[in-house]
Amino acid sequence: NLNNIKNGSLKQDDYLRGLANGKLVAKQMIGDALRQRVESIDYEFCEPGDEDTFFVADLGEVYRQHLRWKLNLPRVKPFYAVKCNPDDRLLQLLAALGTGFDCASKAEIEQVLRMGVDPSRIIYAQPCKTNSYVRYVAQQGVRQMTFDNADELRKIARLYPDAELFLRILTDDSSSLCRLSLKFGASLDSTDGLLGLARQLGLNVVGVSFHVGSGASDPTAFLKAVQDAHIVFQQAAAYGYNLKTLDVGGGFCSDETFEPMAGVLRAALDEYFPAHTGVNLIAEPGRYYASSAFTLACNIIARRTIQDGSAVSVSDSSMSDDGSVNNGDASYMVYVNDGLYGNFSSIMFDHQHPVAKILRAGGRTMYNSVSALESSAEDAIEYSIWGPTCDGIDRITESIRFREILDVGDWLYFEDMGAYTKCSATTFNGFSNEHDVIYVCSEPGAMALLGL
Ligand code: PLP
Repeated sequence: NLNNIKNGSLKQDDYLRGLANGKLVAKQMIGDALRQRVESIDYEFCEPGDEDTFFVADLGEVYRQHLRWKLNLPRVKPFYAVKCNPDDRLLQLLAALGTGFDCASKAEIEQVLRMGVDPSRIIYAQPCKTNSYVRYVAQQGVRQMTFDNADELRKIARLYPDAELFLRILTDDSSSLCRLSLKFGASLDSTDGLLGLARQLGLNVVGVSFHVGSGASDPTAFLKAVQDAHIVFQQAAAYGYNLKTLDVGGGFCSDETFEPMAGVLRAALDEYFPAHTGVNLIAEPGRYYASSAFTLACNIIARRTIQDGSAVSVSDSSMSDDGSVNNGDASYMVYVNDGLYGNFSSIMFDHQHPVAKILRAGGRTMYNSVSALESSAEDAIEYSIWGPTCDGIDRITESIRFREILDVGDWLYFEDMGAYTKCSATTFNGFSNEHDVIYVCSEPGAMALLGL
């Protein structure tokens, strides 16, 4: 657990064994939560909303991700990027784990302060800030914030001259899912001038920050960014600034790319900012913590049968005894009660490809069962999956195959739905963007921290 990591007694082997065990417990708990919910609905007579899409969140997964972070980047303190998923319980657990928070707006800062988090654990990591928000953070004592241009420096000099400033530099984010350097970051040509201006305005520059792009895939982007940050530390020294903190931003994925990515970053930090320099290292991970902790379940609300590329009328189809349509090699369009304007906003904004699995079909719940996962077989039935709005763009999956016949009332589930999903869901077409979250916790350590 966390203490073993803190006192250095956790061995990699023990960690991996604990991880495998935790994942098994998690599967069981998530499956039970999904099953209980969908089996409790009376599909014939339920009220509107009872069969709405819902999440199951495993806080134990967040805890495991934190252990993984501590093992791989022990010198780097995470400041969770709230924008990624501002779920209250998730934030509470992270606060209890001792992380800081990267906030982008007044509302995010308010939410974190409301939990009793000290303002020193917040960085307002938005290089282009709203005037009134700067006044707000000055009142609240949130001192750390980023900047990347001269106008912003003059704004801060006027509204919050005591702020602790991080100069955000440009990175090569060309291999990331979501590029941020198109919009933010000072090039190395401009950093010297900005530091000179900050000095002239009497401002307090305390560090450098960067972000290699959200969903980064090229570890060398971190190496180059650390090298550039090192140059800016030296430039700052020439203006009399003794910079104390390097913020390496976000971009880390929760999949198997994390270890190699963290390995390159760790080596770069050890080379350019070794421990003896006393420079504090922080980061702003978002999706790394949130993505794999949330599973989304969606109900099939309608189905259209397709034969030879066109919709089938009732007279063309033969009904089987149970009333289902049996069309030989037909394919189906299934419509679920969540889509691109809802929690699948990640398809548009975050370039994700969520993969459907069957939760319930033909009155049978089959979470994580072999048959529901045998989806690639050529002889299986082809489906496309669509959201509930009127817009043709609202398609979740163009083509997927399952052995099961799916029909209205059946359920699909999607894993890894915690990052950039519900935070950017709209109410387009009158569909609610407030969905139940059922919390489970597959790690006793996390339960203890939450007092559960
Ligand atoms: N920090 C800043 C300034 C960001 O803009 C973002 C994402 O857009 C993040 C951190 C979180 O990035 P990620 O979720 O890729 O870790």
